[in-house]
Amino acid sequence: MNAATQKPLLVVGAGIAGISAALEAAEAGQEIVLVERDPAIGGRVVRNLHYFPKLCPPTCGMEINIRRLERNPRVRVITGAQVTKASRSGDGWSVTLTHAPRYVNSRCTACDECSQVCPAKVPDPHNLLMLEVAAIRLPHADAWPRIYTMDRNACPAGCTKCVEACKFNAVNLDATEQTEELEFSAVILATGWQPYPIEKIEELGGGKIPDVIANVQMERLASPTGPTGGKIQKPSDSKPPKRVAFVQCAGSRDVKHLPYCSAVCCLASLKQAIYVREQLPDSEVTIYYIDRRAPGRNEDMLTKVAGMDGVKLVKGKVGKIEKGAQGLTLRVEDVESGKLTDAAADLAVLATGMMSSLKDAGLPFDIERDDDGFGLDNPRAGLFVAGVARRPEDVAASVRDATGAAAKAIAAAKQSP
Ligand SMILES: Cc1cc2nc3c(=O)[nH]c(=O)nc-3n(C[C@H](O)[C@H](O)[C@H](O)COP(=O)(O)OP(=O)(O)OC[C@H]3O[C@@H](n4cnc5c(N)ncnc54)[C@H](O)[C@@H]3O)c2cc1C
Repeated sequence: MNAATQKPLLVVGAGIAGISAALEAAEAGQEIVLVERDPAIGGRVVRNLHYFPKLCPPTCGMEINIRRLERNPRVRVITGAQVTKASRSGDGWSVTLTHAPRYVNSRCTACDECSQVCPAKVPDPHNLLMLEVAAIRLPHADAWPRIYTMDRNACPAGCTKCVEACKFNAVNLDATEQTEELEFSAVILATGWQPYPIEKIEELGGGKIPDVIANVQMERLASPTGPTGGKIQKPSDSKPPKRVAFVQCAGSRDVKHLPYCSAVCCLASLKQAIYVREQLPDSEVTIYYIDRRAPGRNEDMLTKVAGMDGVKLVKGKVGKIEKGAQGLTLRVEDVESGKLTDAAADLAVLATGMMSSLKDAGLPFDIERDDDGFGLDNPRAGLFVAGVARRPEDVAASVRDATGAAAKAIAAAKQSP
């Protein structure tokens, strides 16, 4: 079977895992359709200020991947689309893709004139709804494709200001949903993860106390394109915190919440402790942990942070957070002695875990899952799972995992007519 006659592979989800799987398979000669639900690719990684282990901005890695995608004619990237129907067809899959209307076409030059005249504001998904943005906008500063998107439901009745402002005739307010039927030899699901909702961790003040935030929110607070322009500050009064507590295993390794370890939360908090200390030199950072999990070369970051001035690592389980007379009171159980103590903080960052989005992705594939909701390969059905949809892991492991999924899917595709 040669590449010209072989059906393409479908990759669902264009986070780092889906992009890697698509590129690896395409560079091995396979035709690929990479489908992303959001208007831009990159997944959750592009919401981070920096990423460990190198602590560089995620755009570094993304730029290389985007160049590889642009240069590879074997990958068709579709954004703003979802798989709405799928059925077995011979040894492969018949799939219906539903393309959501984007309202802005590829003539868009990202000049921003439409955004500037747009009267409607919406909470920004890229900033986890912590910032309001124009209904017509670039999905985020480094978005690819570099085409604006629109929340059409937010438009005031009869408003056509964006259409009038666009010199390139790129806005079409009457765009409609489209469907497309395609045949595939095999499918890689790389739909990633969702953060465990902090509102569910009531005992730690999640969703109730404004100065208790989640680790994913800290990434946006520290980012220059985030809701505070990169200033780490308390949501309650917009002042910089003096005492910052990182609460590890918040809702993880806990039968009431997520029973498993998400593998990256210790490293994410160590990284964020660096953000805080670099930006607020007078701050005091305390990381409360049960175990410090920093495998392989990531141990260097643990050693670095543990040795930093102004940072303390305390082996203790935080069981409760309440509003105190001045700031927050954390009830901490010393894991070794079992003794309870109270500690104070101005800002608490809950290191919440990752849940596989295959749990409720609503995909029309019969996906096998493990007890924690993470996807399992089904080679007989030509279905493979990559990245955090398969298990909690960091970017480097997701890329390795995606490469493996690409190899398995290519092998399955060779057997498919
Ligand atoms: C607070 C925090 C900080 C972190 N920091 C780091 C770090 O510094 N370094 C590091 O190595 N790792 C870090 N991680 C882990 C990292 O975010 C993950 O390893 C990475 O996101 C995994 O990529 P993915 O492609 O599997 O998933 P995702 O990034 O979630 O991408 C999945 C993609 O699939 C799309 N999708 C979902 N459902 C559908 C659907 N039905 N149809 C089409 N598309 C769909 C999504 O829109 C998304 O674009 C951190 C994690 C957390 C919680």
